[in-house]
Amino acid sequence: MIPTFPVPEPTLVWSRFFELLQVPRPSKAEGAAIDFLNRWADGLGFEARRDAAGNLVVHVPETVADGKGPTVILQCHVDIVSVTAEGDAHGADAARGMIPTVRGDFNPANEKRLDPNASGDWINAPFTTLGADNGIGVAMMMALAESNHRPVPLQLLFTIDEEAGMTGAFGLDPQALGLTGKLLINIDTEDDDEITIGAAGGRDIEISWEGTLERVGNQTCYSVGLKGLKGGHSGVEINQGRANAIRLLSRALRRLSDAVDLRLLKLSGGSRRNAIPDVCTAVIVFDSAESAVAQLTIEACCDQWNQLYAGRENPIIIEMTRISDSQPESCLSVASTQTFLQMLNGIPVGICEMTPEIPTLVESSCNLAIVEFATPESAKIICSVRGTTGFAADDICDTLRSIVGLAHGTVEIADGYPGWKPRLESPLLKIAIEQYELLFDSNPKVHAIHAGLECGLLIEKLPGLDTISIGPNIKGNHAVGERVQISSVQKSFLYVVAILEQLGR
Ligand SMILES: [Zn+2]
Repeated sequence: MIPTFPVPEPTLVWSRFFELLQVPRPSKAEGAAIDFLNRWADGLGFEARRDAAGNLVVHVPETVADGKGPTVILQCHVDIVSVTAEGDAHGADAARGMIPTVRGDFNPANEKRLDPNASGDWINAPFTTLGADNGIGVAMMMALAESNHRPVPLQLLFTIDEEAGMTGAFGLDPQALGLTGKLLINIDTEDDDEITIGAAGGRDIEISWEGTLERVGNQTCYSVGLKGLKGGHSGVEINQGRANAIRLLSRALRRLSDAVDLRLLKLSGGSRRNAIPDVCTAVIVFDSAESAVAQLTIEACCDQWNQLYAGRENPIIIEMTRISDSQPESCLSVASTQTFLQMLNGIPVGICEMTPEIPTLVESSCNLAIVEFATPESAKIICSVRGTTGFAADDICDTLRSIVGLAHGTVEIADGYPGWKPRLESPLLKIAIEQYELLFDSNPKVHAIHAGLECGLLIEKLPGLDTISIGPNIKGNHAVGERVQISSVQKSFLYVVAILEQLGR
């Protein structure tokens, strides 16, 4: 593809990126992109190997005669989140791998567009996601392989399906791919002054619970609802101190059960396992003579929480309304209602532990994500547990088993994916920090995230792998208007070159 503006520096990186934009590569349909990379490798005489999962490794020898440097694995995912804004025409174009590009400066007043302007520092796709996440990394790897000066042997690992299940990293077959490197640089970090050195593993927990029904006498139904909380990502935003709608409502109802004879008809909250729930509603039954007491109890809860969450959460309001027209025959007994609410309130919510070595990093967390009643007497609860190590996640799972066991419920734990424990003593990290300081005269931000990355799975497949993740500035990923910064691509490219150069010494 010939862009409508001059190709920026480094021209080889951008030329390969613009070629890649013509290749369709949505998650789970990366075949054309892997073929494209395989043909590119063949054309240069590099050995390319695939595994059954669909990943590709291109083996690129060093160019220096007395090469003693270690083999370095460079890694990116080839798939992109494909989102289209304006109608099927552009959607079809994007699916065919025809992503239009615009170069210009970011205009915050108009987040989705950039003003076309050849001197601008950002490139975006006006109608679709650009796919710079992770296409710009793929292009950087191609340019590094095509360089006439390669100080170390490179193994370019192109994984599939990072955005929609990480099945590439899960299914990675190091033997089939001939992966032997002991150092890995992942180019999927989206801030050029950061070095990522850790991530969290995750497990999905499904809790099943069954209670006892009893007949509803001369009582009244009320709906109780809490909505409008900020919600957010249950990994990277778990440290923001936001409220969990299920937790707040279950706590209000449990306190209410101290004040009145409360029976639960249903409770429903949350929508996705990786989102902090922002909505929860319940239908409860009690004697209407106690409605004033009930109202006061709930208002007292709200008052308390609005002080507790002041400044970090939206105003917390729980609305209780009488439902006059529906009178169920039976609902959970008073005792079962209490047991259920006690169990729900015992489930850990939010941060469980911080990492002692990196005080700002969450070590483990639990998101009480979804609760639903399938029948009046049986509920399902979904929790998402994250931990930098499997042990940290195991601890939370054990807590869940204990609490749910007391309420005679059952817990099922899915296998999940492994974490990536930060290694502050990593030799590769030491070189990366030194080179950053030398090149840019400032300190990089060394950090870990409390969410899943492919690196955790890759380390599990290649034990002992010394790993860092870096990459250029990308904003607005996974949405129309995704943009990548030209000067930052240049910076990141120089940075990778400098690290490889140092490793080759
Ligand atoms: Zn990515």
